[in-house]
Amino acid sequence: MSGLTDTHVHLDMREFRQDRAEVLERIKENMDFVVNIGCDVKSSRESVRLAEKYPFVYAAVGIHPSDITGFCYEWEVELEKLCKHPKVVALGEIGLDYHWMTEPAEVQREVFGELLSLAGKVKKPVVIHTRDAMDDTLRVLSDFPETRGIMHCYPGSVAEIPRLKNFYFGIGGVLTFPNSKNLREVVQKTAIERLVLETDCPFLTPAPFRGKRNEPLYTEYVAREIARIKEMSYEDVVRITNENARVVYGIKG
Ligand SMILES: [Zn+2]
Repeated sequence: MSGLTDTHVHLDMREFRQDRAEVLERIKENMDFVVNIGCDVKSSRESVRLAEKYPFVYAAVGIHPSDITGFCYEWEVELEKLCKHPKVVALGEIGLDYHWMTEPAEVQREVFGELLSLAGKVKKPVVIHTRDAMDDTLRVLSDFPETRGIMHCYPGSVAEIPRLKNFYFGIGGVLTFPNSKNLREVVQKTAIERLVLETDCPFLTPAPFRGKRNEPLYTEYVAREIARIKEMSYEDVVRITNENARVVYGIKG
């Protein structure tokens, strides 16, 4: 199969409480697979539970930088345990968020480093969330040169891409926003072999649904926009981003 993929979903969140079964049914009917991403220990467990129940759902487990308050050894032990599950394909999301700054920057950097070393130990790729913190993200990553994975909702510029040679770039609904000049340039100048589709649903809904809740099926609008910018066929964008998602997450075809 080489249909649509969504490398970053949060189907466990309460925004899907009313109609989760219908959303999952639409994924099953129209897409190849999605990866549900953990933000804390609870949602990481939820991720694994969804992946166990649905063949087309895979899981990532991690602690979002805005959810690290109380981070302790027990959390790491739990994540490591969850990583042994055959459907856990990555450690994420992890990273730095200096926009919300829930914990001071140095605390965030320390936890990020801990989780990157855990990723090395369990031999998993990472899903990185970075907001207003690109320089520090690159600095922390430089201590872990073996790390590979996805820069989720890539907020950087073309200039930083050479320093992220082990990474794929997650492209989502932001690409369809009128003020997405930076991201358009990234898409234009980066090989399609380095891009993956994502929604970050329920957040970041693409045009024409902006303002409503996002869902995995809307990756179609992102793929169409990538096709337009790169002057490729929609089918090729879907096929190649599917391959990329399988390679980075180690999901067999
Ligand atoms: Zn996310």
